[in-house]
Amino acid sequence: MKFHDVDFDTYFRNYPDANGYFGKYGGSYIPPQLQAAMDEITDAYMTICKSSKFVNELRRIRREFQGRPTPVSHLERLSSSLGNVQLYAKREDLNHTGAHKLNHCMGEALLAKYMGKKKVIAETGAGQHGVALATAAAYFGLECDIYMGAVDVKKQAPNVARMKILGARVVEVTDGLQTLKEAVDAAFDAYSREYHDAIYCIGSVVGPHPFPMMVRDFQSVVGIEARSQFLEMTGELPDAVVACVGGGSNAMGMFAGFLNDPVDIYGVEPLGRGPALGDHAASLNYGSEGVMHGFNSLMLKDEHGGPAPVYSVASGLDYPSSGPEHAFLHDLGRVTYDVVGDEDTIDAFFALSRLEGIIPAIESAHAVAYAMQLAKRMKRGSILINLSGRGDKDMDYVIEKYGIR
Ligand SMILES: *Cc1c(COP(=O)(O)O)cnc(C)c1O
Repeated sequence: MKFHDVDFDTYFRNYPDANGYFGKYGGSYIPPQLQAAMDEITDAYMTICKSSKFVNELRRIRREFQGRPTPVSHLERLSSSLGNVQLYAKREDLNHTGAHKLNHCMGEALLAKYMGKKKVIAETGAGQHGVALATAAAYFGLECDIYMGAVDVKKQAPNVARMKILGARVVEVTDGLQTLKEAVDAAFDAYSREYHDAIYCIGSVVGPHPFPMMVRDFQSVVGIEARSQFLEMTGELPDAVVACVGGGSNAMGMFAGFLNDPVDIYGVEPLGRGPALGDHAASLNYGSEGVMHGFNSLMLKDEHGGPAPVYSVASGLDYPSSGPEHAFLHDLGRVTYDVVGDEDTIDAFFALSRLEGIIPAIESAHAVAYAMQLAKRMKRGSILINLSGRGDKDMDYVIEKYGIR
């Protein structure tokens, strides 16, 4: 299938290019000493991902440890409450640890093992990536250092406890605003000192090459499974696929299965409180081209051209940029990126809980809310939602802030 001048039959062979570019987006904008470390990861990954030993080991782990394949569920009662369109959900909430993030963390940690590294390093904001990576490190017997802003350490006590129980070292960062940005800086700093023994594990399809490609590849299991499961269940492909986009890893994993199909693809960004800068985190809808955290993409900028403050009710979606491949697919028009705000998201959170017995992560509830609106517009057909995670982590917050709806 061709879209403008991009041929999706050969898409995965050509994108990203050898320097990590998806069109003008992506690349690697980092200091030379870190570039050497990134090149080592790229060389190792490009070799190992073609090794049947590596691929089969990852497949075994997914089956025996993660509980994959996760099912696709027909959301019958939610569908009938909306009209004729049939909604389905890919159940990443049932992946071990309760979200899609473990898919790339197990891949990254297995790569670390193959490269002979002893340690994995990462930053975390809300703590979800830290917990997934700590889980992978425990499985493989690797050391794990998670850098986290001191403010986040206080706010995310249950995830800090999880990481510690899993044997990770949580390094509290007390510079600047003591949140995610400072944690990223501190983790990169540590990595540039320790890269002989450690690898950095990024939590989404962001960062310098090869991470946007590598994390996409590890997450593509979601889309590949979902495509064949949907075909088996219904005898055809869905008319539309929907996923929420923060950094963009769950979305990219799902989309990878359908880019070369006659399927409409929708990425949903958080509109938060509204379209004013600072009230949302919809970088693909409202951002402009810019470099942060080592990659070129669409980003939300403050008056100095740096990353703008962002907000969303979903802490996993409040990032001022998105993966470069999303920026590319956005410009190409292959994927439609749209927005959903906090209020509609919370309504969808309760709708899925009440009508289907599935409490979604607030991140995933953005995709559910959008699919519900799309179902009303489409009138007939089918929609496949990527339910990226479960909502246990969000229940106390939702009840406190919104009450029972
Ligand atoms: C972290 C997280 C997200 C956002 O990350 P992406 O890289 O955009 O997928 C979405 N859903 C859940 C459940 C998460 O934990």
